[in-house]
Amino acid sequence: MSGNEQKYIQEAFETNWIAPLGPNVDAFEKEIAHYVGANEAVAVSSGTAAIHLALSLLDVQKGDKVFCSSLTFIASANPIIYQGAEPVFIDSEPETWNMSPRALEKAFQDALREGKLPKAVIVVNLYGQSAKMDEIISICNYYEVPIIEDAAESLGSSYKGKPSGTFGKFGIYSFNGNKIITTSGGGMLISNDHEAIHKARFLATQARDPAPHYQHSKLGYNYRMSNILAGIGRGQLEVLEDRVNAKRDIFKRYVQELASVPGVYFMHELDDTQSNRWLTSLTIDEREAGVSVKDLLSRLMEENIEARPVWKPLHLQPIFHGITYYPHNERENVSEDLFRSGICLPSGTSMTEEEQTRTIHCIKKAIKQRV
Ligand SMILES: *Cc1c(COP(=O)(O)O)cnc(C)c1O
Repeated sequence: MSGNEQKYIQEAFETNWIAPLGPNVDAFEKEIAHYVGANEAVAVSSGTAAIHLALSLLDVQKGDKVFCSSLTFIASANPIIYQGAEPVFIDSEPETWNMSPRALEKAFQDALREGKLPKAVIVVNLYGQSAKMDEIISICNYYEVPIIEDAAESLGSSYKGKPSGTFGKFGIYSFNGNKIITTSGGGMLISNDHEAIHKARFLATQARDPAPHYQHSKLGYNYRMSNILAGIGRGQLEVLEDRVNAKRDIFKRYVQELASVPGVYFMHELDDTQSNRWLTSLTIDEREAGVSVKDLLSRLMEENIEARPVWKPLHLQPIFHGITYYPHNERENVSEDLFRSGICLPSGTSMTEEEQTRTIHCIKKAIKQRV
């Protein structure tokens, strides 16, 4: 927390607005929309809820297909299952680690041949890095299929000068405790479509018809963000820029210290884009470094330093066994390679310089000793 959150929570207490909805919610929605340059935003209880609402607004139903990045957290795809629809997983390309336009095009060609295009494409911006949006948008526009941009990890990033999350028909952010800013738990759905956002608010509030006697003619959800948590969000949004700068500095320092170590390759930043560097991510070439990611993780753990492997691709998850998957090309399975060779380093903005130095030394030592 930054400190300012208290002020907004205090306001909520003083005015007794301890409810889902209230002035902090309205203000937080406006402030996020203004920050990213979207027309409208709805504050909800999680990023997952925001994705679910987007799918519901696009009328995704039983029997429908939805294309989704494979290299991501499971929350990107679970709402597809909530709607009774079928996910189709798309591999990454090596430059951004995000959705491969080539695999996406192949998936579309097959879908067209089968006479059943997907209802939506969920594009994820991993660890703050924007996907190749120009290429992806042009493919999706050609097939006239809407994009949901999962920007849960990329709030504060931009692609060719435009804020991450604003490229699709819908964009979603997460304010879960581990994200760049947090409300402890929460999310936001953004869009330029006024009618859709109006409907999202309705669906997120139990789809209550405008009648005094609690009438419902549609299936809704209890997905709104509380006025207290929105107060935390307002305080957090004020320090988002500082957080992005701090995260980018952490990344820069890792690069300075480790880029020349054999077998260490940092995640790129596309030309003309800026990543919030939510997590510093890199790959280890085991042959050059002499250590595997698994070895490195356990060496760090021995020193009480918590690093993480890259997300396990969704097409490898037991729960999604048997689901269709499109690799980058015949020879390259990028998400599986990244899963094997990728590692995320401690990147918390409250990490001290000393702690980062300790992490850097531990990595250097492990690679030099070639355990
Ligand atoms: C965190 C995250 C989500 C889900 O957000 P919640 O607020 O935790 O529901 C979705 N997609 C990605 C890529 C995430 O990292």
